[in-house]
Amino acid sequence: MTKVMSATHRRAVPSTDLVVLDKVNKHYGPLHVLKDIDLAVSRGEVVVLIGPSGSGKSTLCRAINRLETIDSGAITVDGTPLPTEGRQLARLRAEVGMVFQGFNLFAHKTVLDNVTLAPVKVLKQNRRAAEQRAHELLDRVGIGSQAHKYPAQLSGGQQQRVAIARALAMDPKVILFDEPTSALDPEMVNEVLDVMTALARDGMTMVVVTHEMGFARRAADRVVFMADGQIVEENTPHEFFDNPRSERAQAFLAKIL
Ligand code: ADP
Ligand code: MG
Repeated sequence: MTKVMSATHRRAVPSTDLVVLDKVNKHYGPLHVLKDIDLAVSRGEVVVLIGPSGSGKSTLCRAINRLETIDSGAITVDGTPLPTEGRQLARLRAEVGMVFQGFNLFAHKTVLDNVTLAPVKVLKQNRRAAEQRAHELLDRVGIGSQAHKYPAQLSGGQQQRVAIARALAMDPKVILFDEPTSALDPEMVNEVLDVMTALARDGMTMVVVTHEMGFARRAADRVVFMADGQIVEENTPHEFFDNPRSERAQAFLAKIL
């Protein structure tokens, strides 16, 4: 959003807000799934989005990536309103990475090809450079030695780390994670959360839907609690978990903690 500058400003300072949702509404037929959502995510901020199933968390993430349209309100990414179609949409998708619960890797492509596909096709990187970068990213997520395998040859935790490397390969401004560890066997959850924690520490802007409260405490700058399509409460993780104010948050935490 544009901020009113005082006359003493010599130059426009870029807003620290990277993703801004302004009175966003979304319906599925009669169902009002996002109700006047206002949310601003700063550069480098890690926002953990929690709330009961059906509260609209996935819809919110998908709206930011323009996988879903909204009915009213506005969403801007780095000051630019979300485009509706075509090339600009591809560019937005490059700027906004997404990691889903199901890893969504291309089954018939190697790990390396999964990571290089979009940089080559969308960003027009030359294959050599894209592959070199992919190897660096696969090392960074701890699976450098698996580059020539196919997804089915990897564990779920490894596949999800490939999905993170694939998102990083586009040099996104922000990465949205929608329950990235929910489909994993318990012993694989931490290897994925550790990669995400490292990313957070490195300053990546992240919006993370998760039920992993340990991760939220460790990595989140802010916890946003949603219920019934609304943001009910938001606070630092410490304040939110130790001293939830709303009854809904108290009831939710009582169930999951
Ligand atoms: P959450 O991720 O918090 O569990 P969702 O954003 O997936 O919530 O869903 C919010 C509500 O919207 C739920 O009631 C869900 O059933 C409904 N919903 C989600 N996607 C669709 C869709 N494509 N069509 C109709 N209803 C949907
Ligand atoms: Mg969901």
